[in-house]
Amino acid sequence: MTRSEDLFEQAKQTIPGGVNSPVRAFNGVGGTPLFIDKADGAYIYDADGKAYVDYVGSWGPMILGHNHPKIREAVLNAVANGLSFGAPTALEVEMAQKVREMVPSIEQVRMVSSGTEATMSAIRLARGFTKRDKILKFEGCYHGHADCLLVKAGSGALTMGQPSSPGIPEDFAKHTLTAEYNNLDSVKALFEQYPQEIACIIVEPVAGNMNCVPPQPGFLQGLRAICDDYQALLIIDEVMTGFRVSKGGAQGYYGVTPDLTTLGKVIGGGMPVGAFGGRKDVMQYIAPTGPVYQAGTLSGNPIAMSAGLAQLEALCEPGIYEALAEKTKRVAEGIKAAAAKHGISMAVNYVGGMFGLFFTDAPEVTNFAQVTKCNVEQFKVFYHGMLDEGVYLAPSAFEAGFLSLAHGDQEIAATLAAADKVFASMK
Ligand code: PMP
Repeated sequence: MTRSEDLFEQAKQTIPGGVNSPVRAFNGVGGTPLFIDKADGAYIYDADGKAYVDYVGSWGPMILGHNHPKIREAVLNAVANGLSFGAPTALEVEMAQKVREMVPSIEQVRMVSSGTEATMSAIRLARGFTKRDKILKFEGCYHGHADCLLVKAGSGALTMGQPSSPGIPEDFAKHTLTAEYNNLDSVKALFEQYPQEIACIIVEPVAGNMNCVPPQPGFLQGLRAICDDYQALLIIDEVMTGFRVSKGGAQGYYGVTPDLTTLGKVIGGGMPVGAFGGRKDVMQYIAPTGPVYQAGTLSGNPIAMSAGLAQLEALCEPGIYEALAEKTKRVAEGIKAAAAKHGISMAVNYVGGMFGLFFTDAPEVTNFAQVTKCNVEQFKVFYHGMLDEGVYLAPSAFEAGFLSLAHGDQEIAATLAAADKVFASMK
């Protein structure tokens, strides 16, 4: 028995399913989850001491690689001053200014402690501001586990075969409308049906919770125009894409301006953080300046702000995003080429530092229906083959992969050699 297996058995006794977040349980691929001891650069190390090239990156935030000296130093310096005050700090001001500089649509920002809190708060604000109850999301997009957003959701909800969840009253869920990603007509139809009732559209600007599905040209711009026509707010959920797809997030990359943006783990450099922000007139509508209530005892935590700021500052150096995109392309195209060499059909998507691998005959994957038709059984075999070869991918066919700047030639070559070997065995 490996140490991970032993720990998993123990964990199941005292933690539901042995994990503190469902996708970690390996339900999407079968087998025992790796228990992780430490991580450094492009590598994570499991409890049995085996090293893996890591394409999960703590689900997105580790853009500089794990345990980056600049972030570690910032955290250690902050720790020396105390862990939490529950009072304003200069660090929060610096963070807000940095976010505004990098993402200009964010005129004002409020920090929270997770992506779920960010989207939940942004939705409440949009509803309060517009005085409308309905919201529109897309099938296969995941925005955290707030009640109104756990309807036809992606990520773990999809992996577990539970598009929505018990415990959410029908009276709440009925206010959540779902449209098809990359299908503007499906959005227009809902607005025509409820012209005065939809408070906002919330969208993943590159869907990363149904594997990785970028927006078709004009899709995000079309959402902007529809929101303008119907006086609804556009919320771009950049929990995954923010500071990963480009310095200005996916909104900067695709040139679309939302009313509100939600940010998550990436903004904390690995610490538990989130944020929501946007138009000043909308943000002024939350407490204490406005009537919509939103709060958090540990929000803007100084350790998290220090870690996040250190990362954001490093990401502002020139050439970072070009390098990240180039590495990502090499990995995604390299894996696709290795599959083709062994007669296995595969499509890949990639934008900035995120990518998706699809076992499909389709030349490209642009929507949720196509994602669900991909061959999950083939993915599982590939997944465990790669794991055996020392490559750690997200343990689900419905999650995106993430590169870091620490992924160098050696790690990429090792990944492609592993893929070649695994595909050869899958023929
Ligand atoms: N929005 C998106 C786009 C996400 O990918 C996630 C989580 N991966 C969330 C929101 C929720 O964030 P958290 O898990 O930190 O609550």
